[in-house]
Amino acid sequence: MEKWDGNEGTSAFHLPEWMIQFADQKQEFNKRPTKIGRRSLSRSISQSSTDSYSSAASYTDSSDDETSPRDKQQKNSKGSSDFCVKNIKQAEFGRREIEIAEQEMPALMALRKRAQGEKPLAGAKIVGCTHITAQTAVLMETLGALGAQCRWAACNIYSTLNEVAAALAESGFPVFAWKGESEDDFWWCIDRCVNVEGWQPNMILDDGGDLTHWIYKKYPNMFKKIKGIVEESVTGVHRLYQLSKAGKLCVPAMNVNDSVTKQKFDNLYCCRESILDGLKRTTDMMFGGKQVVVCGYGEVGKGCCAALKAMGSIVYVTEIDPICALQACMDGFRLVKLNEVIRQVDIVITCTGNKNVVTREHLDRMKNSCIVCNMGHSNTEIDVASLRTPELTWERVRSQVDHVIWPDGKRIILLAEGRLLNLSCSTVPTFVLSITATTQALALIELYNAPEGRYKQDVYLLPKKMDEYVASLHLPTFDAHLTELTDEQAKYLGLNKNGPFKPNYYRY
Ligand code: NAD
Repeated sequence: MEKWDGNEGTSAFHLPEWMIQFADQKQEFNKRPTKIGRRSLSRSISQSSTDSYSSAASYTDSSDDETSPRDKQQKNSKGSSDFCVKNIKQAEFGRREIEIAEQEMPALMALRKRAQGEKPLAGAKIVGCTHITAQTAVLMETLGALGAQCRWAACNIYSTLNEVAAALAESGFPVFAWKGESEDDFWWCIDRCVNVEGWQPNMILDDGGDLTHWIYKKYPNMFKKIKGIVEESVTGVHRLYQLSKAGKLCVPAMNVNDSVTKQKFDNLYCCRESILDGLKRTTDMMFGGKQVVVCGYGEVGKGCCAALKAMGSIVYVTEIDPICALQACMDGFRLVKLNEVIRQVDIVITCTGNKNVVTREHLDRMKNSCIVCNMGHSNTEIDVASLRTPELTWERVRSQVDHVIWPDGKRIILLAEGRLLNLSCSTVPTFVLSITATTQALALIELYNAPEGRYKQDVYLLPKKMDEYVASLHLPTFDAHLTELTDEQAKYLGLNKNGPFKPNYYRY
């Protein structure tokens, strides 16, 4: 057997005492039946600010008051006006939303309980820029319970749930966000979070890199006090690696996007759970017997294919990578080139992270009523711009649904204008977001508590042991009983009984 030391690359990570105690108790915890019921509810996302997003269900009626929140004088019930939200009076609605999300975020709730005596984030001043949804609210309130002070802005101008922002402001969180911000509002909100008399952040939680970018541009001196950055998105992580490469990254950063618990759960299970919802809500279609082509058989593609296959669809897959292609074949899908099936399929779904996977030529050849949508990267996968030509007519038939009509009457059904279908048109499972949010919380705790020198001015992956810890915190929901290694087995495998259980190169 190949040897490995179980430690994560450059990280000399050790679970903090309070986490170790919890991890040690997990067997006992697993035996207890969970009190947390499974509820299907959610409405959130995780994507960079370049993606448009509209909440599938919101109490917010933006038409009720056109006054910009920036021009309103609002106070919460404790007299604080250190926030800017659409309407503080919506706080009660938002609180109910947060309570529902709490039911599906067992790990964060466990962390709160666990940290009642210990405050691993005491003294932390976290400035955050993420989607402001019920799930984020659960994360923020958990960070608060762990001892942190937080100030928050939205990473996306469309994704804020106004009532949730109001609930957070009501309970004392300085939140600066509302649905439908202008570009100027967006940066103003970020600035209000960092440019504060008598308060300076020492941690950053970012989704998309805009907050980090703003501090670099406007307040570079702040980095003297900042202990670390936790970044969630592909785009933000890319920016961090660029900074690091240029020698300009001045604090350690944690790449949460590429941690196993994010990749394997967010990409695979989130998409498996949300693809049908997105298609159904927009088109009311039946899936049984429909011919679908899924472009890309990575994590997202695998999730989409599994869901559609289970509904009785006939699924074709396109791939460029022979390994993923072989996986598709072994999973029972027909591997084709897009050209070979483009005339016959009822649905085309892109999941590649690539650009121009569906071109105008493909779109021209599709049959009447073919549905075209994207589950992969932002809005680059389908060449939507090529459809903006004079001979084609666009007809908006529903929110997020366009018919694009050819001169001969043929029409295709384009969903969310080629942006991410599930983030634009469906809800995303809270439980999956719980896994990502817990990873973010642990990354913040790790960076904040790390002794001098453990992390340099570089980008790190979360230590594997922490990934395992995130997973273990979610197991009790399923009343799952994890097997413990015997001493003899641990010795045989060369493992510590408390993990990490896999080498870094293990692929899951
Ligand atoms: P991945 O790298 O595991 O899979 C992408 C696959 O597409 C790869 O196997 C690659 O070989 C293949 N591919 C690339 N170009 C292709 C082409 N022209 N034709 C056919 N196949 C091609 O990535 P992933 O984790 O599956 O993520 C894919 C995209 O989805 C990323 O952009 C990611 O950011 C996004 N994503 C979306 C959601 C969501 O909720 N919709 C969630 C997570 C990730």
